[in-house]
Amino acid sequence: MTSRLANQVAIVTGASSGIGEATAIALAVAGVKVALAARRVDRLTTLSQQIQDQGGTVMAIETDIADEVQVRNLVQKVQTNWGQIDILINNAGVMLLGPIDGADTEDWRRMINVNVLGLMYATHAVLPVMKAQKSGHILNISSVAGRVVQPYGAVYCATKFAVGAFSESLRQQVSSDNIRVTIVEPGVVATELVQHITHAETKDMAETFYGSMKTLDSEDIASAIVYALTQPAHVNVNELLIRPTQQER
Ligand code: NDP
Repeated sequence: MTSRLANQVAIVTGASSGIGEATAIALAVAGVKVALAARRVDRLTTLSQQIQDQGGTVMAIETDIADEVQVRNLVQKVQTNWGQIDILINNAGVMLLGPIDGADTEDWRRMINVNVLGLMYATHAVLPVMKAQKSGHILNISSVAGRVVQPYGAVYCATKFAVGAFSESLRQQVSSDNIRVTIVEPGVVATELVQHITHAETKDMAETFYGSMKTLDSEDIASAIVYALTQPAHVNVNELLIRPTQQER
């Protein structure tokens, strides 16, 4: 099935760690030319080398997804170099959990700018390319937090609910252009995500929660992404909700 992806071109945002990194590797193994986007260029360089060593085709592009100009440059660079964009994986995200009362509102701006606006900028920038091609697949990483509201997740959940709403409207708008839209909603995945929480007490709680179960690995989500991408062109997997077996809610 992965042979369906050979020679396609993908952009993976947030490719410098976790789910994005695992997805970039899985796509490269399937023969996709992969553009890696994130801010930590050292991590992207190491990953590029790893993919190239395994025979893959890759390009690393330093991008702050919250900066619309940088996102436009990312898309333009990929289109100029490879002449097409078949897949956009909108994966970059931050989860700065904490109580509303007394919150550092800079955390809120970061989450909204990256999780929501960044995903929208990238979508906006690739759409003209995909519409002209009359094909494409935009895959947005939401979360269980886009379906279920959790304590200390007010703003993070709001951003992921926004991803769900945006994705469904997008799907309805571009279906006639033969463009597919999928949202993937992971439960607990062992990545760096929790390490960036700035509210110390909430970070401890999140670490305890993550430590309470056999978590998913990034590769588990990458497999789900490859599943959605490798369906025949007339099949649009709209939504995938994936929890660890031991995660209750
Ligand atoms: P990581 O922290 O490992 O990865 C997050 C990625 O996002 C990094 O590559 C980071 O790159 C990138 N990123 C953050 N800010 C920016 C920015 N301003 N510009 C560009 N890239 C940025 O976490 P995960 O792999 O877990 O997270 C990936 C996605 O999965 C997120 O959307 C997250 O919400 C979602 N998710 C994760 C779950 C989990 O339990 N881990 C559960 C449900 C959903 P860099 O810092 O180099 O810019």
